[in-house]
Amino acid sequence: MTTTPSLIDRPEAMFQLVRARQQRGARVGVIPTMGALHEGHLSLVEASNRACDVTIVTIFVNPAQFGPQEDFQKYPRTLESDLEALAKFKVDAVFTPRNEDMYPPGYSTYVDPPRVAQPWEGEHRPGHFRGVATVVLKLFQLCPADVAFFGAKDYQQTLVVRRMVEDLTVPSRIEIIPTLREADGLAMSSRNRYLTPPQRKQALTLSRSLELAAQMVAGGERASHRILAAMHAEFAAAGITDIDYVAIADPDTLAAIDEIRSPVVALIAARVGETRLIDNRLLTP
Ligand code: AMP
Repeated sequence: MTTTPSLIDRPEAMFQLVRARQQRGARVGVIPTMGALHEGHLSLVEASNRACDVTIVTIFVNPAQFGPQEDFQKYPRTLESDLEALAKFKVDAVFTPRNEDMYPPGYSTYVDPPRVAQPWEGEHRPGHFRGVATVVLKLFQLCPADVAFFGAKDYQQTLVVRRMVEDLTVPSRIEIIPTLREADGLAMSSRNRYLTPPQRKQALTLSRSLELAAQMVAGGERASHRILAAMHAEFAAAGITDIDYVAIADPDTLAAIDEIRSPVVALIAARVGETRLIDNRLLTP
């Protein structure tokens, strides 16, 4: 059975719907997205369907989190097929706020993101997490859900959101859902649709090098520099030269780790052609 979810674009209407349901005792879940939905997003919807009575999906391509040279203009906007995909789940409303309601003329207040926003993505996408933290806080105001679902695919983002929610006493609970991958291991991403068939093959290097890292750690390797060298060799072999970072870091602070004595996170950001892809994996000694 499929039911097209109702679209809400008015901020007040969104807020009232959430409060009305909560007053009747419902537990409300929200999944913030930028649309161009894939099965990874839908796994967050499923998680909300399992844990909550009411599920809201927000779709907003947030200009504040894109740099001036980034893909805001060409970011895929596929509302019709997004609604079709969501119709297969129990989605009570899809919130598509308008740019002018989120950032009206004179808008000038931004969230200064927590320290964990500084390394890695923070260095390569200045202002990105400021935009993310700001829009997520605004979405929590408009859609004060009991639970909000985020994907582990954007590992640093999950740390930024968790810390912000704690620091700014946002009452919503944050749940992190594992990364959904294609059969061959490529992490699902809205940006995968930019890849040509040869680039799609090259893109597999991200997950393959993470698998290699996991195997090295499982085999007893404890020196990050040897693991990072092996990962870089995979990228070189695949002809991927535009690497923002390949890192092994503390899973909570994201400080670089030299010797692996407890679980760490391996983080990658690289460009395949023009397309910037990220991936990560926990490595447990
Ligand atoms: P986006 O639309 O890219 O901003 O993503 C919206 C949410 O979906 C974020 O919390 C992402 O981390 C999550 N997400 C994106 N890709 C995946 C994936 N492959 N598996 C699980 N969650 C994902």
